[in-house]
Amino acid sequence: MAHSKALLVLENFIGGRFVPCSSYIDSYNPSTGDVYCRVPDSGKEEVEAAVKAAKAAFPLWSSKSPLERSQILNKLADLIEDDLEAFAQAESKDQGKTITFARAVDIPRAVYNFRFFASSILHHTTECTEMPTLGCMHYTSRTPVGVAGLISPWNLPLYLLTWKIAPAIACGNTVVAKPSEMTSVTAWMMCKLLEKAGVPHGVVNVVFGTGAKAGEALVCHPEVPLISFTGSTLTAQRITERSAPHCKRLSLELGGKNPAIIFDDADLTQCIPTTLRSSFANQGEICLCTSRIFVQRGIYSEFLKRFVAEAKKWKVGNPSDPTVNVGALISKEHLEKVKSYVKKAQAEGARVLCGEGVDSLVLPADNQKGYFMLPTVITEVKDESCCMQEEIFGPVTCVVAFDTEEEVIERANSVKYGLAATVWSSNVGRVHRVAQRLQCGLVWTNCWLVRDLNLPFGGMKASGIGREGAKDSYEFFTEVKTITIKH
Ligand code: NAD
Repeated sequence: MAHSKALLVLENFIGGRFVPCSSYIDSYNPSTGDVYCRVPDSGKEEVEAAVKAAKAAFPLWSSKSPLERSQILNKLADLIEDDLEAFAQAESKDQGKTITFARAVDIPRAVYNFRFFASSILHHTTECTEMPTLGCMHYTSRTPVGVAGLISPWNLPLYLLTWKIAPAIACGNTVVAKPSEMTSVTAWMMCKLLEKAGVPHGVVNVVFGTGAKAGEALVCHPEVPLISFTGSTLTAQRITERSAPHCKRLSLELGGKNPAIIFDDADLTQCIPTTLRSSFANQGEICLCTSRIFVQRGIYSEFLKRFVAEAKKWKVGNPSDPTVNVGALISKEHLEKVKSYVKKAQAEGARVLCGEGVDSLVLPADNQKGYFMLPTVITEVKDESCCMQEEIFGPVTCVVAFDTEEEVIERANSVKYGLAATVWSSNVGRVHRVAQRLQCGLVWTNCWLVRDLNLPFGGMKASGIGREGAKDSYEFFTEVKTITIKH
């Protein structure tokens, strides 16, 4: 198609060099609806070259000491941090998220991912047991696996990509990464810093393109023994099928339909602002976002009134305006999909209390064609409704009442997903009891999104397989061997 303005053109990064591609795909600025960037449409050939480069780099990189690798990761963290503002601007433009969120969350966390694994790799120990009567001792040793295939989504682009690259290379693997075709720019910017950080050529290769072409070529490559994937449950099923003939090691971080359970003894002054954030932060495009809010009947009316009044204050508009709370959704198709859920809920008899279809959305002139939507609160919705069962992944949340602890646990667990939950109560015994019985990998009580990267992250049921974190990522990205010595 014809493009009026000069477009940003990305290139693959293979073997330490930027390499043009024979075909490209358009990438849109979600806040204007304009094409502003062209992303390589890589396929088998590009993936083949990247795997070859990663394989060639493996012997040298895997033989470096953890300390040497740690120093390089720290240097890369420093370089990204030096450019934090440029990265934040790029992430906001590419993804539609607010500049405030990109500055405060995405890029600082990408920096921290490298610092965290630069440190944690220095502190792992292996196991040793003895059998004195047999004169034997056993110990374990861990070695990097080889070329890691890393596939990441569009909602937290550099944040999630570096959450994979950092542990993979800290452990001595080399990688071929494929970011989402919709948000590739910050990964490309990071590639420009690798040489200066001291990352040897071929250790980090980035191949841009679609899931169907570049992603599948990586998943099916016989010399990529492990795939770390974050994205939708549907794509994970496809990846599982396609990788099965090779018996690949998979880490799958998938979707969620996360409940917030608010008991009548909750501190609403903390709970309401946090639940607004957990519902609408990053346009609701975080796998950990709350989309089902269960409120105990005694405080239901008060909660709903205050929650809706506060939701209406969230400002939607130009992501680069620092006073804006909600930016643009990732694409026109996604916006339409999210809106269609609101329509379906209404058709089923639910009430929309604010947002889509109820309030008017006023946008600046430059953003009229952007993919914006108001924070939307739905109530009087049945647990069986698609809005209460399926991941919407937008600024839409449902609020319903409950009576007893037993009832709410059952209802919270009655979805196919099991990623995260939040529980609000000042009764510590209840908080423990409920947290134990919720079917999900993470439970926050009286807070949301507070993370210690040392501890496991991941989901149950359709929300994923495997965990990530200091020890968990170390185990995933290394092979363990048990060695027995008889003396
Ligand atoms: P997606 O599954 O459509 O795409 C994710 C990545 O997989 C992209 O890079 C895409 O190009 C690639 N891909 C698509 N088809 C592929 C295939 N057949 N083979 C190989 N790769 C393929 O997901 P998305 O729409 O980009 O992201 C949103 C989803 O990600 C939501 O479901 C969200 O909950 C989930 N998510 C989960 C976590 C978590 O940690 N659990 C974090 C963020 C997002």
